[in-house]
Order: sequence, then C-alpha cells, then structure tokens
Amino acid sequence: MKVSTPKELTVRVKKINKIKTDIFLLSFDSVYISKNSSPGQFLHIKIIKTILRRPFSIHCVKGKTVFILFRIRGRGTQILSDYKKGDELNIIGPLGRGFCLNSKSGKNILLAGGLGVAPLVFLADRLKQTKPIAILGAKDKNDTICADEFRKRGCRVYIATEDGSKGRKGTAVDILKSLFNKFNKSDKINLYTCGPEGMFKGMKKAIGKNKNVNCQVSFEQFMGCGLGSCCGCTIETKNGYKKVCKDGPVFNMNDVL
Ligand SMILES: Cc1cc2nc3c(=O)[nH]c(=O)nc-3n(C[C@H](O)[C@H](O)[C@H](O)COP(=O)(O)OP(=O)(O)OC[C@H]3O[C@@H](n4cnc5c(N)ncnc54)[C@H](O)[C@@H]3O)c2cc1C
Repeated sequence: MKVSTPKELTVRVKKINKIKTDIFLLSFDSVYISKNSSPGQFLHIKIIKTILRRPFSIHCVKGKTVFILFRIRGRGTQILSDYKKGDELNIIGPLGRGFCLNSKSGKNILLAGGLGVAPLVFLADRLKQTKPIAILGAKDKNDTICADEFRKRGCRVYIATEDGSKGRKGTAVDILKSLFNKFNKSDKINLYTCGPEGMFKGMKKAIGKNKNVNCQVSFEQFMGCGLGSCCGCTIETKNGYKKVCKDGPVFNMNDVL
C-alpha cells in the first residue's frame, strides 16, 4: 500500500448533502488528496470553534472531488454539518495506513457496522473488478446507508438490521457466519471491516481458527495530532504499542483483537 506525504491544505466545500437526519455527505475538490489517497486513509479536519482536529475517513474519490461521510456525534460534527458550499476547510491528509489489497486471489468481503461503510465505499471502487460482497449491518431501515453505492461498484449487497425492518433480522456478523457456512473451508477470504468494537469481537469469534480468512480492521480511536507525535491514540497490539493515526487506522485483525 502506497503511503503519500500528508499535506496541510485549504479547500472549499463543494457540496454538503443531508443523507439521513444525522448523516451528511461533504465534498471538496483537491487534486493532491484525490491522487494520493488510498482506501482506509483519513483526513484530519479543522472545524471552526474547536481546538483539536477531527478525523474522517476518505469515503470516496471521483476525479478531483473527495467525499467524506459523517454522522453528527458531538460539537465538532454538529458545527461541520452547518458548513455551506464555498466555506473554507483546513485539512491534513492523506493520513495513516489504509487497507492492503489482497484482491488477487480469494473472495473479497467488505463488512460494515453502521457508519463503518464510510471507508469501505472507496475500497469497493478499488476492488470493483473482483465483484466483492458487501455486508451492511444497521439498527433499523432508517440507519442503513450506502447499499446503492456498493451495488454501483459491482458488489453483491447483504443487509442486516437489528429489528428486521430491512434485510435479514440480526447483525452483519450473522450474515458473515451464514456465508462462511456456504463457502468451502478451503476458500481464501479477504475480509475488510469497519464498525463498532462489539462487531469486531463477534467477527473474530465467527472466524475462529480458520486460517484462510485474512481480516483487516479499521479502528476508531480518539486522536490528538493525527501525525504520530502526541501518542494520544496509542493502543496495545500483539506487536507492541501502536499509534492508530500512523500505524493504522487499519490493522491486521490478529495483531489487535
Ligand atoms: C481514523 C478515523 C476515521 C473516522 N472516520 C469517520 C467517518 O468517516 N465518519 C464519521 O462520522 N466519523 C468518523 N470518525 C469518528 C469521528 O472522528 C468522530 O465522530 C468525531 O471526531 C466526533 O467529533 P465531535 O466533535 O462531533 O464529537 P465530540 O464532542 O468530540 O464527542 C462526542 C461523543 O462521541 C464520542 N467520540 C468522539 N470521537 C470518538 C472516537 N474517535 N471514538 C469513539 N468515540 C468517539 C465521544 O466519547 C463523545 O461521547 C473517525 C474516527 C477515526 C479515528
């Protein structure tokens, strides 16, 4: 995976669309970010009236236009949701290590819990030729997002909702388990995931001792500088302490879970 030098850039909001009550799709033009980013990498965005920058995955790139998909969580994202076309946005990126693309052999499965879809749409673009499977888990039908985005990228999409209001009743991991049961034990599977920690735990259990599954997880962690200097996002891994912003946010599952 290529890791480009991050740059601090000032860009202008091109569009900001409300996708759901609390979810927004924001775009801006940047030739540098669009050319030098890879799936799983993120941007550190300075939002007015806040001190620390906030990290957001690169959702996808179309030409020179870069997209981020975000959910209102607290003060920063609330303020960001009020940005308008033409507003200035100071960003640093592309940051971090994204997904390693093991697409040459095996089945590619993208597993997203909730807003975990954010970095996986960009990945689906890169894996398009392999016709990946996308498994999307959400609380209910109002919480399911990006299914069409994955379909447009040639993915076979499976949806699970906790209340059964869309797709299968249950979790994304339940769907993963039933797919594992359908596949041959010898099938090589590349699993790319992003979502809440509870989902990761269930997923690890579902994989068990199957050595044919190579699983990468994109981790969310509170971040300070985003550049590897402050160590604020350090986590303990089987290979020692790692900084999520610099060594991640994508890790091999066996190193971190
Ligand atoms: C590498 C990376 C990529 C991310 N990509 C996206 C993305 O594409 N879209 C998106 O919507 N969000 C993404 N996030 C999460 C996003 O950064 C936070 O939602 C945002 O920083 C919240 O800022 P805020 O000021 O609105 O909330 P705050 O006021 O800072 O916090 C509000 C609440 O959210 C919780 N919270 C905030 N940040 C985190 C975090 N990182 N982990 C766990 N809990 C948190 C706090 O505990 C608090 O309860 C990503 C985080 C990381 C580390």
